[in-house]
Amino acid sequence: MTSKESELINIDRSVTCKVKMGSRDLVQATGKGTLVVETQHGKRYIKEVLLVPRLDENLLSVGQMMEHGYYILFGGNKAVIFDDESLNNVIAIVTMEGNRCFPLSLESITPAARKASVTEDSWMWHKRLGHLNFASMTKMQQKELVCGLPILTEVEDVCAGCASSKHHREKFDKEQAWRVSYPLELIHTNLCGPMQNESVGGNRYFITFIDDYSRMCWVYFLRNKSGALNVFKKFKAFVELQSGYKLKKLRSDRGGEYTSSEFEEFCALQGMKRQLTVAYSLQQNGVAERRNRTICEMARSMLLEKGMPITFWAEAVNTAVYIQNRCYTTSIIEKTPFEAFTGRKPGVKHLKVFGCLCYTHIPSSLRQKWDSKTGKGVFVGYGSCEKGYRVYDLKTEKIVLSRSVIFSEDRAWNWERNVMNQNHLSLNIEGGEVEGGNSVENLVAAHPDNIEHCHQNSTAGELAENIDNDNSQQSSPSSTPVKLKTLQDIYARCHMCIIEPENYQEAFGDKAWQEAMKEELEVIEKNNTWELVERPIDKPVIGVKWVYKTKFHLDGTVQKHKARLVAKGYAQKSGIDYNKTFAPVARLDTIRTLIALAAQKGWKLFQLDVKSAFLNGVLKEEVYVE
Ligand SMILES: [Zn+2]
Repeated sequence: MTSKESELINIDRSVTCKVKMGSRDLVQATGKGTLVVETQHGKRYIKEVLLVPRLDENLLSVGQMMEHGYYILFGGNKAVIFDDESLNNVIAIVTMEGNRCFPLSLESITPAARKASVTEDSWMWHKRLGHLNFASMTKMQQKELVCGLPILTEVEDVCAGCASSKHHREKFDKEQAWRVSYPLELIHTNLCGPMQNESVGGNRYFITFIDDYSRMCWVYFLRNKSGALNVFKKFKAFVELQSGYKLKKLRSDRGGEYTSSEFEEFCALQGMKRQLTVAYSLQQNGVAERRNRTICEMARSMLLEKGMPITFWAEAVNTAVYIQNRCYTTSIIEKTPFEAFTGRKPGVKHLKVFGCLCYTHIPSSLRQKWDSKTGKGVFVGYGSCEKGYRVYDLKTEKIVLSRSVIFSEDRAWNWERNVMNQNHLSLNIEGGEVEGGNSVENLVAAHPDNIEHCHQNSTAGELAENIDNDNSQQSSPSSTPVKLKTLQDIYARCHMCIIEPENYQEAFGDKAWQEAMKEELEVIEKNNTWELVERPIDKPVIGVKWVYKTKFHLDGTVQKHKARLVAKGYAQKSGIDYNKTFAPVARLDTIRTLIALAAQKGWKLFQLDVKSAFLNGVLKEEVYVE
């Protein structure tokens, strides 16, 4: 408790109670507010601090601090207050005085500065929560629908991200008076697409499933409509197992993906009721269609905010669903969808601004001596567990899942320099609800100071094949959607920096290659492959060429340098110099037969490699080389 009103923000005047002091006096409290503490890691809030004007000293209750999740360590005449159980972030160190009290002096922050920082925080949270409107944010904070959301204020400025994407608040569903009474009793579903641009995982559609009871939403990504039944089966198996409830009814429009005979048969076999609505009718399939629209709007705002290429639409949609499951909705009372479905209050402390620059820690085992300990990336969403982040690695152009990430939330990557032709925004919803067409180009420079310029020549187009992360992966809170980079993968990239010589001149300078060439010449001599003759006048003569190749062990270390002297066979002409070409290969059937025979007879098998085997072949034709 404190006597200084100026120390507190968000004072609730309705709280008036009497406080019994150590001297057994009763003093009047005139309100309750929140104390802001500046720490090295940003602002921390101590909630429910009583305002007691008659108090001589500010008193901080140890018990109350603990109730709010702080950790306090006493010892050696000192008390240290930590932010959380990791004991990493020290909020204050207090030395005990002669009277056995611990006077805590907080840096005095002027109210104006405090207000400014709250405003700044509000903006940051607005962006972290996918440009959620301030009214919903305030509700979430006041009703404590989530854990970890600080006190925020409504900001009157216009946000570039939302203004350009026509963000609006979710309207209350008036038409649906009747509601189900338990989870999975009714699932709404809708397919959205095709998108004009394929996602990085090569998908063009997304399909959502919304639980009517909790309004929890799950999203899957598809290459084409025909995959709908397959993901529905996956979704059904997943939610039923996780919740313990059975899916009873499915409401969808009459889109072909839902009315195929396979789909109907599956539902009939499972004993599910179908509710088919008129296609594109907002009134009948309202829940799913409206949700798809809010998802698209949120995704678009997030992409616009950081000037991200549209090919990241699937990551943005996935993140929007993740956020919306953890946000206030008018459709259910006093709970987030996440809590209504799982029974647990969601945390939001881990939320970060989509598309911001970030740095992932590279483990020492994957790092060369002088390599940086961090890799630069762009934050593109959340992993299945609340502590994992999906990061698009700018160097490898792959999405990785990482737990130790440092975020630079107000910065963005300048994608324009990489991606020139893929910047037309068009998150079109089936039914034409949302129109696109805004070019990212116009909006990318919203914060020119914060944009990091890109000096790489890489093209984003090349990565589609490798990033398969969102390909019909279930991507709500329960999945593991990321393809992790394997060690081999990383080494395979490292190999690129070992340059093999192009020609004899280059190789001659290196002792290892000299050795390799010497070895090759020795086997050629040994096998009597050639004899020296006069140059024929009437026969074609082909040249020879050195080919160099570095061979690696599985772990990426160099196994050997291999040099081959080859004839320029491509200079020969079919029908003149040769008739048939073929490459002898071992027939696997033969090898299997041999192994089977050896097993039956109890023989021992040996394996050997014939070096330069091809030099043992006998040529019928005369070939002249120089
Ligand atoms: Zn916004």
